[in-house]
Amino acid sequence: MNTVFIISAPSGSGKSTLVSRLLNEVPGVTFSVSYTTRKPRGLEEDGSAYHFIGREEFEQRIAADEFLEYAEVFGNYYGTHCGVLERARSEGKDLVLDIDVQGAAQLRKRIPDAVTIFILAPSRESLEQRLRARGQDKEEVIRRRLADAAKEISNYDLYDYVLVNDHLDEAAETLKSIVRAQRAKRERVEDRIRPILASFAGTPAAGV
Ligand code: ADP
Ligand code: 5GP
Repeated sequence: MNTVFIISAPSGSGKSTLVSRLLNEVPGVTFSVSYTTRKPRGLEEDGSAYHFIGREEFEQRIAADEFLEYAEVFGNYYGTHCGVLERARSEGKDLVLDIDVQGAAQLRKRIPDAVTIFILAPSRESLEQRLRARGQDKEEVIRRRLADAAKEISNYDLYDYVLVNDHLDEAAETLKSIVRAQRAKRERVEDRIRPILASFAGTPAAGV
């Protein structure tokens, strides 16, 4: 049984940085590559960060019911393709979805046992600095993302975990710990427990 991790955060909080640390440092985790009508930023490659498509194609895919969830964020469409869940399951991998609060609300209903994580920068000032330091968005886009951050943050209490991304190494360790702890849950280790129990068969149990 694999786990679906839904991660949301205001843009610039460091979500992509943390998710790439998780993917590089914990084996058996795969990333859901979303579809978007946003233009590629910096060195983003098609099929890696996102599948970049036009508005018309996105709307055709909505009509064909291809998305597990989709939302309009900052004036662009973003959506999770239905196939990602099945692919992760067949590969036996945990799946990480980087989606906004609207998408997370839709998916919580469809995947009730998904683990949800909200990431926060330590303050508004640091969020603004990070958006500027990234140096890939126009001033108007940065302003819009900051304005939307306040609204997004108010949804933090709908998530299972809240991670403050102050010191990057510490936040990355916490994120990896959440994934590892999930893997140690009883229902995830049943298959490993059975042969251990079988190896004790015939040994009389001492009274408690
Ligand atoms: P998001 O995916 O949430 O939009 P990014 O991962 O692109 O955010 O991070 C935004 C910027 O902040 C990047 O330049 C990144 O290197 C930087 N950053 C990420 N985490 C930290 C941190 N803990 N301290 C300082 N800068 C950070
Ligand atoms: P960015 O343009 O900075 O990559 O992403 C903007 C926002 O869109 C982020 O909050 C990100 O989590 C969200 N997002 C990315 N992919 C998806 C998706 O497939 N569905 C939804 N609902 N949001 C997404």
